Amino acid sequence: MTTEQTSQKAYAKINIGLDVLRRRSDGYHEVRMIMQTVDICDDLLFEKTQQPGIVLKTDNEELPVNGDNLICKAAELLFRERGITEGVRITLTKRIPIAAGMAGGSSDAAATMRGVNELFGMGYSIEELQAFGVTLGADIPYCLVGGTMLSEGIGEILTPLPAPPDCFLVVAKPDINVSTGFVYGNLHADRLSYHPDIDGMMAALEEGNLQGITDRLGNVLETVTAKEYPVIEELKQLLQNKGAENALMSGSGPTVFGIFTNREEAEAAAEAVRERELAEQVFVTVFCR
Ligand code: ATP
Repeated sequence: MTTEQTSQKAYAKINIGLDVLRRRSDGYHEVRMIMQTVDICDDLLFEKTQQPGIVLKTDNEELPVNGDNLICKAAELLFRERGITEGVRITLTKRIPIAAGMAGGSSDAAATMRGVNELFGMGYSIEELQAFGVTLGADIPYCLVGGTMLSEGIGEILTPLPAPPDCFLVVAKPDINVSTGFVYGNLHADRLSYHPDIDGMMAALEEGNLQGITDRLGNVLETVTAKEYPVIEELKQLLQNKGAENALMSGSGPTVFGIFTNREEAEAAAEAVRERELAEQVFVTVFCR
């Protein structure tokens, strides 16, 4: 019997370290970042249909359900490669904050590649899917595997790292949408006065040293986003005042996360963020291995 439906989870990521080395002549930025999956996910259901084509449904009214959605782009790419004449209905339950610096769109695209590959028995390896994925978005190769990774080049050179020690996270997305293009477009990669200690962070991960990790949290994109939106600094301060070992903006922002060693403190900090209405979405969560 052939499989008529399958489901996938699409996990969000944060960056515990994000450095930009230079802007290439083709406009892409060469990065050196440490990616980490967190336990916040979207659900995707894939069902075969007789009617040809790709139909997307979602519970989130903000998102396009046409070819602009990365889910449709990812499915179309694989359909084209394999000349698929049947159809697929994809149902997205959205939980990852949108335009947040958490790779929600990329993770949905990666989950779609895994789901469509499985549903239509395409037999592509993860490496093959990663090669297709990078043509749609630099974070997609990472999202296809997840976990803790050093990401280099434009995001396509991935090196697995040990997961950080167990801890608790408060993840807070302020009520503003930040375009990744705007942030990279306004970054002066050649004039950065500070670069996060990515090598030191990798050594701390190897040692399982949480304080070594939290001491080295750093993201050069804060120089653009936090200057534009003061709420980012406010959130970082509040999380630190409420007991976070340290706090940082993720990706191009505006999501801020704080790392806590104690769940009760993390819950109380999340409550303080909600009370002050500094964020529209607030999660207490953990790293995924
Ligand atoms: P990154 O961390 O990779 O920069 P992000 O979290 O900043 O990603 P996304 O949530 O991936 O940003 O979305 C950015 C834009 O992409 C949104 O404006 C949205 O309209 C569009 N988009 C297309 N498809 C999706 C999708 N499946 N989920 C979320 N956004 C999508």
